[in-house]
Amino acid sequence: MASQLLSISGLSAGTEDKPILHDIDLEVGAGQTHVLMGPNGAGKSTLGHVIMGDPSYRVSSGSIAFDGEDVTSLSPDKRSLAGIFLSYQAPVEVPGVPLYSFLRTICQMRPELKMTARRFRERVAQISEQLDMDDAFLTRELNVGFSGGEKKKVEMLQLLLLRPKLAILDETDSGLDVDALSIVSRGIEAYRSECDGALLMITHNTRILERLDVDRTHVMVRGRLVAEGPASLIEEIDSNGFARFESEQIAEA
Ligand code: ADP
Ligand code: MG
Repeated sequence: MASQLLSISGLSAGTEDKPILHDIDLEVGAGQTHVLMGPNGAGKSTLGHVIMGDPSYRVSSGSIAFDGEDVTSLSPDKRSLAGIFLSYQAPVEVPGVPLYSFLRTICQMRPELKMTARRFRERVAQISEQLDMDDAFLTRELNVGFSGGEKKKVEMLQLLLLRPKLAILDETDSGLDVDALSIVSRGIEAYRSECDGALLMITHNTRILERLDVDRTHVMVRGRLVAEGPASLIEEIDSNGFARFESEQIAEA
C-alpha cells in the first residue's frame, strides 16, 4: 500500500471539558484533494485545529501521522515545519508586524525556503501579481484592518510562498465576493499545479470545488466521520443537504 501523507487513526479530541471529535479515521495521500463537509458545529474546524496541534484542544486517544512521522504530540510550529498549513476561518491580526517582515521571518525559519533578500522580494512580487495584490499591503501591519477578502489573499500568499505538503483550508471561501473568490480559486489552483501539494478543503461552497479535481469527500456529523465517497458526493449534498447522514447516524446509535 502506498504510504499516506496524512494518516489519522482512532482520533478522539476535544477541549478540557468537552469531547468534540470521536474516533476519526482519515487518510490523505500526497498531492490529493479531499473535501470535508458537514453541518455547522459538526467539528470540522476542530479537526483542522487538532491536525495543526492547536493547544486549545486535547487528544484523548488515537494518533496523527504526517509524512511518515507521528506528530500527535508535536507543537504547531514543528508541524508547520513538517509541511502542514492551516488557513484559519478567522485569521488573527498582528499589530506592529508588517506583512513583509512576517513573511520574510517565516521563510528564514525553513531551511528549504532560505533565499537571498533579493530572491525573496522577487518571489513575493511574483505571487502578489498572481493574486492581484497591491504592493502597499506588504508594508501594512499583518491583517490589521484588512477586509475579509484581503485577509484571504494574504493567506493565499503565505500558501504559495511556503509550499506546504498539506494545506487545510477552513472555509477559506466563506463570505467572499465573486472577485475575492476567483482570486482564492486562482491561489488554490496555483498551489495544486506549482507545489503539487495535498489539500483538505473544509467548505460549504460547491462552486469553488467545481474547478478542483476532488479525490475524496468526507462527511462529518456530530464529531464523527459518517460517510466517505467520490467527488459526486458533493453534488448529492448540494441538492439534498446532510439530512440523510444525520438520520443514518441516529439510526446507528
Ligand atoms: P464546525 O467547524 O464544523 O462548524 P467546530 O469545530 O467549530 O464546528 O465546533 C464543533 C463543536 O465544538 C461546537 O459545538 C463548538 O461550539 C465546540 N467547540 C469548538 N471549539 C471549542 C472551544 N475552543 N471551546 C469550546 N467549545 C468548542
Ligand atoms: Mg468551522
